Amino acid sequence: MSSIKPQPGIMDIALYVGGKSSVEGMDNVLKLSSNENPWGPSEDAKEALVRASLALHRYPSTDHAALRAAIGDVWSLDPARILCGNGSGELLMMIAQAYAGKGDEVLFTEHGFAMYPIYANANGAKPVVVAERERVVDVDALLAACTRKTKVVYIANPANPTGTMLGEADLARLADGLPKGAVLVLDGAYAEFVEGYDAGAALIDQRDNVIMTRTFSKIYGLGGLRIGWAYGPQHIIDVLMRLRGPFNLSAPALAAAEAAMRDTAHTAKVRADNAKQRDWMAHALSEIGIPSDVSEANFILARFASEEEAMACNDYLTSQGILLRYVGNYGLPHCIRITVGDEASCRRVVHAITQFKEGAA
Ligand SMILES: *Cc1c(COP(=O)(O)O)cnc(C)c1O
Repeated sequence: MSSIKPQPGIMDIALYVGGKSSVEGMDNVLKLSSNENPWGPSEDAKEALVRASLALHRYPSTDHAALRAAIGDVWSLDPARILCGNGSGELLMMIAQAYAGKGDEVLFTEHGFAMYPIYANANGAKPVVVAERERVVDVDALLAACTRKTKVVYIANPANPTGTMLGEADLARLADGLPKGAVLVLDGAYAEFVEGYDAGAALIDQRDNVIMTRTFSKIYGLGGLRIGWAYGPQHIIDVLMRLRGPFNLSAPALAAAEAAMRDTAHTAKVRADNAKQRDWMAHALSEIGIPSDVSEANFILARFASEEEAMACNDYLTSQGILLRYVGNYGLPHCIRITVGDEASCRRVVHAITQFKEGAA
């Protein structure tokens, strides 16, 4: 045994398992396991990426001014209170690093994103899991679980993997009921899929204890480039700035993200196409006895009669070259999360699940 020991909490981290992307011996695999955008990024973003690739000997911008200006223009936010990260994951981690350590508590809910306990443990804080109500974040339960040690509360809105979301009044009640010294983090990875939703911007502007994180990995279709951003009160942004590496985003990523942000027509098209395919798929599955909560995101959480049926269906679909996300590890053993694909993909997945239901497995 080595006498070299990591900080407390680090060895408690269970490694994050991402969505599968291949099936042995099979091509034409349909990957609907990671909430990726089936329509891909904006053409403008791809062109910007190629152009940026011609100057790779240069260090990237360190203040991200052009990208922050683009985000500020499109979302009507003050660029001085925007911070960009290497995926929103980097920013979510930095928030725990800045505000939660040994002796502190980090709250999240039972079906919350699997990275939240990792952010707590990585910083020596105690992860605290709070019950939901019928797959919806429960504000009362969260407030009841708060103590003086509570420093960070993470919720995704809309949530992953449930697809449900809280309205503005509930979010305000949560923010206003937190103990002094606790930060509410609104993880807005799927916020852009919700027509007319400001992701919590108004809430943030009226308080000093709420921050949002956003990503280019979902609606903007740039998961491979790793770009995210946060918007919050100036005092929190000033703290996080000190933790950020000076060159945490590459030049090609910055260029592509700026172009993607400004191509609002592409974003609107993806939002509309996603809603259409999602609602079609949810309806088609409900017709064959597989319900789901109304999803506000780019996936649906299909509920099966039992854990056995969900696992068998997942195995059957894998054998057909269709990869979904079985979410037993999210406390949802009878559920499968299905990313919304393009029209052909949604038809293919519904067809295969119908075959499974008819006894093909
Ligand atoms: C996909 C996802 C993210 C995005 O992470 P990135 O690091 O920006 O790719 C964040 N939170 C949740 C809940 C997600 O599902």
